[in-house]
Amino acid sequence: MNLKDQTAVVCGAGGFIGGHLVKSLLSSGVKAVRAVDIKPLERWHQVSAGAENVQGDLKELRCCEAAVKGAGLVYQLAADMGGMGFIENNKALCMLSVLINTHMLVASQKAGVERFFYASSACVYNGQKQARADAAPLKESDAYPALPEDGYGWEKLFSERMCRHFEEDFHLSCRVARYHNVYGPFGTWDGGREKAPAAICRKVIQAKLSGKHVIDIWGDGQQTRSFMYIDDCIEGTKLVMESELDQPINLGSSELVTINQLVSLVEEIAGIRLSRTYNLTAPKGVNGRNSDNTLILDRLGWEPSIRLREGLEKTYRWIEGEMARGAKGE
Ligand code: NAD
Repeated sequence: MNLKDQTAVVCGAGGFIGGHLVKSLLSSGVKAVRAVDIKPLERWHQVSAGAENVQGDLKELRCCEAAVKGAGLVYQLAADMGGMGFIENNKALCMLSVLINTHMLVASQKAGVERFFYASSACVYNGQKQARADAAPLKESDAYPALPEDGYGWEKLFSERMCRHFEEDFHLSCRVARYHNVYGPFGTWDGGREKAPAAICRKVIQAKLSGKHVIDIWGDGQQTRSFMYIDDCIEGTKLVMESELDQPINLGSSELVTINQLVSLVEEIAGIRLSRTYNLTAPKGVNGRNSDNTLILDRLGWEPSIRLREGLEKTYRWIEGEMARGAKGE
């Protein structure tokens, strides 16, 4: 499928991944990009002058209908979400994103959109398969029998299935990627919605600046995760959109680390060692999660490959710069 002759809509364009995607689509020569987000433009993480930038609430069907007018491609990334601290305490808000996905699918099908991309999540996977830090990497089939993350994960799994049935019943061509922990510059790093890599960078920078050489870690630090750098996420998103993959697919790194190892990497970048305290009552998510990349390698001949140390260095330097200029990080 040639994406270049199309008008693309990016939903959630004022957020972290959406902002990078708009920039990348424009530079790869897509005919036109319409960028939509509920936030006022001054709060967008990035604004690309070459796009048509629109503020609107995509929970509203009318707003979705306006967003997809004349569009061939839809990238649906809008969601009310954040890291574990946010999703564990805001389950109803997370589930309300179902209105965005429902109305975007209805509007896209009615408007004759050629292809619809949905940003799903590793939070759809069955919790029992992630009970141990050394759990096997998650294969796409591990989403069933369904026991996803409460709230956020259930909504993502439900919306994945809506995509599937819109394709089967209404012939709307859908592509679904399950993102695993994305990080990088222009991501949220403060305010309650930030995720582990950005939160740890911020805490290490604060410790360095204040001279208080301690860090508070959520959980016992033994929990395992993989983290995908934003450039891999954008490349993978475009590859999945162009592909003939009609089943949800993992889009994540398979470089597994413990949270303690993640902290050590950030300390190394900062050139500092901190004493660690562990907050065992803080939200910490599952004990072990990694991405099995067999399917993506087989179908696309590609997988995310940017090393964590390299991506973290860029992320750390960016957050350091933002903190130095007094930015808010939300
Ligand atoms: P983000 O919070 O930075 O961006 C989401 C954007 O959606 C925000 O700017 C928000 O204002 C917008 N939005 C929320 N409600 C809206 C509405 N009603 N109408 C219009 N816009 C609305 O998040 P992100 O990290 O860029 O994530 C993008 C997508 O990828 C989300 O769907 C998320 O669930 C998914 N995802 C992200 C990660 C990750 O690690 N970042 C992991 C798995 C899945």
